[in-house]
Amino acid sequence: MTATLIDGRAAAQRLRERVRNHTVKLREQGLVPGLAVVLVGDDPASNIYVTSKTRQAEEAGLRHFDHRLPASSDTSQLLMLVRQLNADPAIHGILVQLPLPAQVDAAAVLSAIDPAKDVDGFHAVNAGRLALGEPATVPCTPLGSLILIRQVLPEMAGKRALVIGRSNIVGKPMAQLLLQNDCTVTIAHSRTRDLPALCGEAEILVAAIGRPRSIAGAWIRPGAVVIDVGINRIEEAGKTKVVGDVDFATAVERAGAITPVPGGVGPMTIACLLLNTVNAAIRARFGEGGELLKP
Ligand code: NAP
Repeated sequence: MTATLIDGRAAAQRLRERVRNHTVKLREQGLVPGLAVVLVGDDPASNIYVTSKTRQAEEAGLRHFDHRLPASSDTSQLLMLVRQLNADPAIHGILVQLPLPAQVDAAAVLSAIDPAKDVDGFHAVNAGRLALGEPATVPCTPLGSLILIRQVLPEMAGKRALVIGRSNIVGKPMAQLLLQNDCTVTIAHSRTRDLPALCGEAEILVAAIGRPRSIAGAWIRPGAVVIDVGINRIEEAGKTKVVGDVDFATAVERAGAITPVPGGVGPMTIACLLLNTVNAAIRARFGEGGELLKP
């Protein structure tokens, strides 16, 4: 069997177009969704992500506000900026690019963001609402992953899902989303015993580990939907390559559908950030009764 490739670039483009069409309508009502992006220091990878986020925000009709702070910035400077952004009515979403420099208390900064403007969905209020099944802003990478799963598996009820990784930004919210979609969910992590056996049972497998090619094709249940969240840079044959957490070459022979890396989950993350920002703007203007853009 050769798996169907789940094209994250195409899905992300469709989502960005929906966001763009929606922002045109909102502008007619005098509402321009605004996204503030905070970058501290000059980490090259973070710089690339932030540039890409602001470019895509602009293309989708959002207004963006860039705040670049020196690497020497401290917690109190960041808290002051976050408070200003919280109070600014032109800003509906605040994104603080991670990682922050070691001297900054990242948890304090993230929890200072107004939950209504927390478009990354990392705030405890949003994580709590997601866990309670209440309306919440959902972290972008798991939300994008869910959209890709739905594309090949519109009916998920009763499916056995395995999420490998329990981080607050990917694994845990991913598990919550699958649970909300009536899957029977298992969460695996570094202390899990017999991961190959768990993989062999999973009809949906989401790998969010951060270890290159660590899920072997032979572990995968034939026909499973495999979502590879991993982004790992490796040196191979004298070149730097980006690979996932799943061994794609062998997994593609067993899975029913699989996301490639790159070109799978990655592009969905920014598209979902735009979606979250537009929805934050709608909530801010029209309250919970506002018609949100569906993921
Ligand atoms: P993280 O915070 O480092 O969490 C990794 C998780 O994997 C932890 O829960 C860890 O378990 C678990 N783990 C580590 N080794 C394992 C093993 N051998 N077997 C089973 N589980 C193991 O990473 P993250 O932030 O969730 O990111 C995960 C991956 O996704 C990374 O490659 C990252 O680059 C990528 N990512 C991609 C996007 C995107 O846009 N596509 C966005 C975010 C992250 P413990 O909890 O026990 O330590």
